[in-house]
Order: sequence, then structure tokens, then C-alpha cells
Amino acid sequence: MFLRKQLASLLFFASILFVSVSAPLSAQSAAQPAAPSVFGYGDFTAQAKIEEKFLAVPDAKQAGEELKILTAEPHLASSPEDHKTAEYVARKFRAAGLDTEIVPFRVLLNQPRVVRVEAYDASGKQLMSGPTREHVEGDPFQDDPRVVMPFNGSSGSGDVTAEVVYANYGRLEDFDQLAARHIDLHGKIVLARYGGNFRGVKVYIAEKRGAAGVLIYSDPQDDGFTKGDAYPDGPWRPETGVQRGSVQFMFEYPGDPETPGVASTLDLPDSARVSPYGSQPHIISIPISYHDASPILQAMQGPGVPPGWQGGLGFRYHIGAAEGQGTVKVHLVSQQDYQRRIIWDVIGKIKGTEYPDDWVVIGNHRDAWVYGAVDPSSGTAAMLEAVHGIGALLKQGWRPRRTIVFCSWDAEEEGLVGSTEWVEQNAKALERAAAYFNMDVGVAGPDFSAAAVPSLKQFIRELTHSVPSPLGGTVFQQWRIKSAGENEHRRSNAPPEPGEEVHVGDLGSGSDFTPFLQHIGVPSADISSGGPYGVYHSVFDNYAWFVQNADPKFEFLQEMARVFGLEALRMADADVLPYDEVAYARSISYYIDAAKRRAADQGLSLDFSAAQAAVTRLSAAAQHIHGLQAAATGDLARLNATLRQAETDLTNGAGLPNRPWFKHTIYAPGEFTGYAAVVIPGVNEALDSKDQPRAAQQLMVLTQALDRAAQTLEGAR
Ligand SMILES: [Zn+2]
Repeated sequence: MFLRKQLASLLFFASILFVSVSAPLSAQSAAQPAAPSVFGYGDFTAQAKIEEKFLAVPDAKQAGEELKILTAEPHLASSPEDHKTAEYVARKFRAAGLDTEIVPFRVLLNQPRVVRVEAYDASGKQLMSGPTREHVEGDPFQDDPRVVMPFNGSSGSGDVTAEVVYANYGRLEDFDQLAARHIDLHGKIVLARYGGNFRGVKVYIAEKRGAAGVLIYSDPQDDGFTKGDAYPDGPWRPETGVQRGSVQFMFEYPGDPETPGVASTLDLPDSARVSPYGSQPHIISIPISYHDASPILQAMQGPGVPPGWQGGLGFRYHIGAAEGQGTVKVHLVSQQDYQRRIIWDVIGKIKGTEYPDDWVVIGNHRDAWVYGAVDPSSGTAAMLEAVHGIGALLKQGWRPRRTIVFCSWDAEEEGLVGSTEWVEQNAKALERAAAYFNMDVGVAGPDFSAAAVPSLKQFIRELTHSVPSPLGGTVFQQWRIKSAGENEHRRSNAPPEPGEEVHVGDLGSGSDFTPFLQHIGVPSADISSGGPYGVYHSVFDNYAWFVQNADPKFEFLQEMARVFGLEALRMADADVLPYDEVAYARSISYYIDAAKRRAADQGLSLDFSAAQAAVTRLSAAAQHIHGLQAAATGDLARLNATLRQAETDLTNGAGLPNRPWFKHTIYAPGEFTGYAAVVIPGVNEALDSKDQPRAAQQLMVLTQALDRAAQTLEGAR
């Protein structure tokens, strides 16, 4: 507590130093003291008053109470407790005046019946038998009988015994190192640590290389005692803590594995469903703690590990699986109960007065692996306080100009299921949606961060000037202090971007913005307030941990409620959609240049000139429309439709080669990274596989998309 206060005052003084640099807003507000100039608004005076009223409402104490209620019981997707949280959120939405419905879907989900792990050394001596129950001294939540045993969503079922091979993080380069050492994975069990990529990618590559099963454990080096004190003494992962999680191949397509591109409504006939193996592994995978992984790793022999593979446990790691060198065998049992189960999204609408068909969608998932205090309930509590604030405006007679749609998604953890099915159901209407704003891990600590499409990056930066930070000053000021430290470590080959005073990341996957952006082309953003967080997807991500480590006074919940609500308010009421197409063109230009250098490095002869000409044309068209947006006069409805169309123009109906569900030409989750974005994915993934004809064809697809967007923007009056 003392430390944090001291830090706050230090940061406050530091922020004063920055105030004069906080350029565009302060310069313009000096000339026009009553109303700062805000991009997208001709005159911001009236909106500034509305925002002020909104910002006064979200309440820290109430957010804390909402968090306590949401996390009172484990609420795995499709459980009775999950349904209770849906009803709670629906009641809150209705109390605020939102037109609310609970939207059910029937989707394929697994729940574990039996999960067992045993290990034996070369002499047949048993090394361990698990999984060991998650347990620490004094945690009040860990003993609830409804806590689901650690398992992987989308895991296969089976019973296998095989030699175990250590594969570090299970990244493509890790598997390639094993291959280079002639270690055959056929029929083996891969032991990989969490980190470095999405867990589904570990299983995906292991399966491709012939493995019979995967064990994924949390190494203390990555989120345990190497980082700092473990729970209950600190925020990091304790010895028995396990990261549950989905291993669905979400980079193929997310959502219900049986219905890609189709909504799994209750009346969808079974004949409309396809095999789930388009996005599901066949093999078993089981998540374990380092308490259970340690005896296996310690007994493994064979070659020593390459540099970077040694983890934080107190012995030398080995790859294992060298014939005759005392191999360790593991016995895995996984019985998964696959059923088509009911899940519940909660959807609350406020009809827009001027553009009722243009939706501003804002959402957060509600389901949790266990209690989910940080992931996702902190986001839900913040969303409920944003709804509280908007409800107060409604009671004073305010109505948004565009329709605002608040969404509480279900079954995000299993594979973005609730959001994907809803997006597939509403695909047509969403072609007009102005934006999708996501929050998942709302609050794990005090560090604000954001990721967005380039057209929304400046919008996010700008609105954080209006929200106070619990650390002093504004959210923007604190964000920039933090970001300045991080910038030193960023790659220097990125050209400096004007307005890039703080870094806004790119959207890959791993949360509910994926269907909006990457399937439909809705401009999207994601915000979070991070910190030391070692209990992700374990029983210990609960209210006791949250109050001790993340946000004891719930003031960051209040901050996130304000930022989240302001995203919706400012977008819904804008005269002109505040998309920064100039920034978009600049980013795309950078991506194309980088791909060109890669192709040259690989010795591929590819002609990038058409793509470069198209992005130059897009950039000029973006400058043209930027002027019209700033003037905010004339036929604004038409200008808005043009801006929105240009975002759709960046999608390609055919989708990516081999991944047709992913239709965006600029952003997709990586096939081998999962969470991290691959930019201009069609081109870059063709370069990854050194496939020159495909790269040329994908360059053409990209060029056509850029030309479409340029032509649309050029037509603006
Ligand atoms: Zn989450």
C-alpha cells in the first residue's frame, strides 16, 4: 500500500513534466477554451457535458460489489452458475434501461470426466501420479466441489502410455530444433511449457508431427516464483496452480467447432453441423502444475537442452527420449464428455436516434474456467459500471445517435464461442457496425494498454485524455510514462509514426474481437489494465487474490468502466466516424515494405510494385477524406457510410488460403502464434512457406482490397 502511494506521487510529478508535450488537445483548447477539438465532432461542447455527466457515475465500491457477486461461485460456460450470472447481468442491463435479451446457442463443448497423469522411470518405478489438487495455505475459495478439474477445452479422449519428450514452449522453432536433432515424435508424448504462443498451437504442431499426447505445464520461470512471490504471499503462480484453457485450433476458425460460418441457434438442425475436427485436435492434451511436471522433468535424461530451454526448476533439464538412455514414460488418461450444450449471451441495446441501424458494439465475456476474478469478471464489473453510467444519462433523457449494443459473451474460454455465434447470426447487420470495443482481462493491475486497428488507435489515445487515473493525472499520461519505458525495447526498424506518443498494439486473437474484425471487418479495439498476474485460468484467480494483488480499492475497475463507456459514447454520438485512415494506410505501407524485404532476403522474385502503388493511392485518398472528416460539414450520413465501406473493402470474401473463415486482408491470428497478429497474413504466410506462386496471388488479393478501399474513399464529397 505504502509503495503504491509513493509510486503514485512520483508518477504524478513525472506527469506534470509531460503536460506541455501533450500537444494537439492542449494547443487547440487554448484557442477554443470552452470546447476542445475532438476528431469526429464539428463542435464538441454539448458532447463534453454529456461525457462529464457519464464519467461521474461509475463507482469503485459498487464495481467491487459486482465483482464479488460475479465471482461468488465457479461459473464454467453452460453450467447452472453461468446461467445465474447471465440473469444477474441481464437484470443490471434492464435496470439501466437497456432493451435486453438472453440469447442462447447450442454448441459442442467438452467437460472432463476423468483426467489422469502418471509417470515411470526406465526401471518402471512410479515418479508421480496426478493431477495434484490445486491448493495453497488459507485460500477461501479453493475447496468448492464445483471447481472443475484442470483440463483443456477441445482435448481429445483416450488412454496412452509413451515416452516423453521436452519441447520447451512448443513453438514451431522448438519443434524444428527437435527435428534437427532427429528426435522422432511419432507416438511420443510432448511435454511443453506454457508461454511463447497460444496453447492450441503447441498441440497443433505436436499432432502434425505425430505425437500421441501433450502435457502442458506452467514453469516457475514464466509466471511463478522466478518472477516474484507466489500466491498467497504475492501475485505469482503457486506450486500446484494449473492453467486450464482451450486447445481449439482457433486460428483455423473459432466458435462452435461444428458450425463454422453458421450460427448454432437452438433450432439449427443437426444435419447442418459438420465434423468438429476442422478446429479440434484428435490427440489428448492435459494441463498440469510444475508440482506435477517437476518429477517427470527431473528424471528425464538424453541430450541436454539447447540454450533458452532451461526453466526455473532447480535441476538441469533434458530433452529425454534418446533410446537406451533411461527414458521416462508417461501414462495419460483423458475422458472428455462432449455434448451439445446451451450457452447464454446477454445482449442489451439502446436504440440510436439518428442512425439506428449503425451499431456501436461493446462487449466482454462472462464465463470463467473457475471463478475468473481477473479473467473475465473484472471486465464484466467494469462493463456493468459503464452501463450504470450510461443508464444515468438515459434517465436524464439522453439518447445516442447510433445504436449502442452491450454484450456479455458466454463460452469465450472454449473458443470465442458466444461472440462468434452471435456475429455469424448478425453478420448482415454488422456490416454497418461503427466499431466493436472489447475488454477481457479488465483489471490485473495498474498498467493501461490497448490494441486496435490503426484507424482506431488515435481514437483510443484521444479519449484516454478525458479519464482520470488513480495514479494521478489522466489515463493517457500514465499510459505514456509506462509506454516510454517500453519503447526503448521496441524494434527500431519500425518508422516513427506521428501521433504514436503511446503504443497501441495490433489485434491478433485470443478474445472476442476476432469474429468482429477478422470475419466481418468491423473496426475493433481491446483495452486492459495489466499487472503481475500469475494465477491465470487457475482456481486462485478469485476475489481473495484480486483484492490482495490487483485492485484493493477497485479504483482501476472504475477507471476501466470510464474508458470503456467513453469508447461507446464518443463513437455513438460522433458527427463523423473518427476513423484515422491516414494511419491505416501508413501501417499497411510499412507492412508491405517489410514483406518486400523478407521476400528479397529469401531470394524470391516477387513484384511488389502494384501493392505499393495501391497503398500510395490509399494514402492519398485517406488524406482527402481526413480533410472532410475534420471539416465535418455536408452530407455526413454519406461520409460515414463511405468511411465504413472502406473498412469492409479490406476484407476478402474468399478468406485466407486454407482458412476461409478469416476474411481480413490485413490482420489474422498466426497459424503458429495464435495470439499474436500476423499482418497482411495472406502474403506473409505464403512467404513463411516460401511459396512464390501463392505469395504472388495473395499480393494481388491485397492489391485489389487496397484499390477497393482507395476507390471508396476517393468518392467522398
Ligand atoms: Zn478471458
